Amino acid sequence: MRILVVEDEPRMAGFIAKGLREHAYAVDTAGDGEEALYNFSINTYDAIILDVLLPGKDGFAVCQELRTQGKTIPVLMLTARDTVEDRIRGLDFGADDYLVKPFDFGELLARLRALLRRKSEYHPSLLTVADLVIDTARQQVRRGTEVIPLTTKEFALLEYLARKAHCVVGREEIAEHVWDEDFDPFSNLIEVYINRLRRKIDQGQPVPLIHTRRGAGYMLGPGEAEPLAHS
Ligand code: CA
Repeated sequence: MRILVVEDEPRMAGFIAKGLREHAYAVDTAGDGEEALYNFSINTYDAIILDVLLPGKDGFAVCQELRTQGKTIPVLMLTARDTVEDRIRGLDFGADDYLVKPFDFGELLARLRALLRRKSEYHPSLLTVADLVIDTARQQVRRGTEVIPLTTKEFALLEYLARKAHCVVGREEIAEHVWDEDFDPFSNLIEVYINRLRRKIDQGQPVPLIHTRRGAGYMLGPGEAEPLAHS
């Protein structure tokens, strides 16, 4: 899952980005409202964490602009003031939830998970594909009864494939949702990570779950892939 963090204070932005990356999110940051809208127009995000107080266009204006464009992406607002007026404004401008600074990072993660879950039926906290269980809250993966240790990036890739289980997912879509803007589209990083996942998830198992569809992408599931590559 790829998140856009909009925050003008570098230390706070760095703190949030680092924490999210440790929890297997891909993160881009924007330092003001214009940059946020620009990033949003060229990249694909699964949620936005949006500070209210920004230089120039503030968080309310950014949120309003996204909603005016018809974008339904989940927006978690960060506000320095806990006033009823701010909360009402945020919700009126289309925010899905808000968090008051200073906040506990665990709470930010929980609210983000809730937003991703609420947004669509494809976002439950527990993802199950055959005997593979991915617990997104605890960031833990099991195949059968065996716990499989994964790095955060391996986890992020597996989680994304699991959300699109039984469908072929293209490289471009994977790059957009699992990597950030520094991803080099000419690298073989996705193949490298798929191979690592295969070793950890499928090696020694009677039913392989990770499939390659040449020229199309990858599919997670016990059977043959549907010829369906949606975004
Ligand atoms: Ca700020």
